Amino acid sequence: MQISESKRLFAHAQNFIPGGVNSPVRAFRAVGGEPLFIKKAEGPYLIDEDGNQFIELINSWGPMILGHNHPMIKDAVVKAMEEGTSFGAPTAKEVEIAELIVSMVPSVEKVRMVNSGTEATMSAIRVARGYTGRDKFIKMEGHYHGHGDSFLISAGSGAITMGNPDSPGVTQGTAKDTLLAPYNDLDAIEILVSANKGEIAALILEPVPGNMGLCLPKPGYLQGLRDICTREGIVLIFDEVMTGFRLAKGGAQELFGVTPDMTTLGKIIGGGMPVGAYGGKKEIMEFVSPAGPVYQAGTLSGNPIAMAAGLAMLKHLNEHPEEYARLNHIGELISDGIIAINKELGFDFTVNRLGSMYSLFFTSQEVNDFASAKLSDTALFGKYFQAMLKRGVYLAPSQFESLFLSTALSDEIIQKILDAHRESIKEIM
Ligand code: PLP
Repeated sequence: MQISESKRLFAHAQNFIPGGVNSPVRAFRAVGGEPLFIKKAEGPYLIDEDGNQFIELINSWGPMILGHNHPMIKDAVVKAMEEGTSFGAPTAKEVEIAELIVSMVPSVEKVRMVNSGTEATMSAIRVARGYTGRDKFIKMEGHYHGHGDSFLISAGSGAITMGNPDSPGVTQGTAKDTLLAPYNDLDAIEILVSANKGEIAALILEPVPGNMGLCLPKPGYLQGLRDICTREGIVLIFDEVMTGFRLAKGGAQELFGVTPDMTTLGKIIGGGMPVGAYGGKKEIMEFVSPAGPVYQAGTLSGNPIAMAAGLAMLKHLNEHPEEYARLNHIGELISDGIIAINKELGFDFTVNRLGSMYSLFFTSQEVNDFASAKLSDTALFGKYFQAMLKRGVYLAPSQFESLFLSTALSDEIIQKILDAHRESIKEIM
């Protein structure tokens, strides 16, 4: 594999961009080597600046659920562009997408569009605080809710990958209002709640966390959180930036039958454009300005190009529920194949999967929280990553991420992924 142009660009980029990248985990620090600079993407493939082609298992960290450069999304974007790129004024498309989201996501009765998942979670916490008149909130260890100050405490994803789960620059004053709990442990929540009686505005979590690698909720866990929050007047927020429109049309809340008070969304909702959203019960969302007193705004919020891409994506998923069966089938073929190969080669590690999200952990222990995720041998993961890359399969460059599959993966491509896995495991064993 020739990577001279990527190497040149990375060296040059470091003169002008901190670490040479615009989001830390892209720098490949956790897996060794240097990042590939991507020129274009089509269907299941990424093509780098040197012309190498890779089968893609990240899909822009989730949004490209139908694969890259899907003609339907491209057409919607091009058509919208012909009418202008930004107006800073209300549009019909915003109303249409809001109505569609409300119809698809069980907890959402009203919704506000923003530009990223980070904006969605920061805003949701502010609204929950305004609504309850309380300051503190509970966050789970290893969960990632974007880079807002109050979330960069025991944060997963790139923050743990870079070794900064508690980022410098977050003041102690801010950090003291973020209460931490281990995922999948209802007793820990009860202890926090009784120690901070009447002071907790919200409990936010990824219902199916992907940012410490994929973990699944224990049976009854999400319902247990729902019951505690209802009893204590705490706003339950599901951060479905990853899982929304991916695990099901209505996200993890539909799949597990547990309805939070608020939901944050991103990734798929923009069809690959920079979009996020937060929504929830009417009585809570009525606190958002200009309906209510909690301020939140955005010059580019509801941008017409982004709305066109998001609408095309959501309409398609809404009208084609069979896509979820297909995604689940693809996920099953890959995870079952990996498990069978590992067994055959005598290599014992954990595979967590739900629908089209999965993670491999280089430990034989069950992984269902941050402590167990950290048991994974990250050096071995780095070797596996490089071995797969060499064989033309592009994985997330960190142990503490989920992989995201797309409908563009044919049976033939899945076989190539499994062949690459077999050879990679043989190489690193
Ligand atoms: N919440 C979750 C669960 C995420 O996975 C992410 C990003 O990966 C975010 C929030 C932040 O979204 P963004 O990167 O669009 O700001």
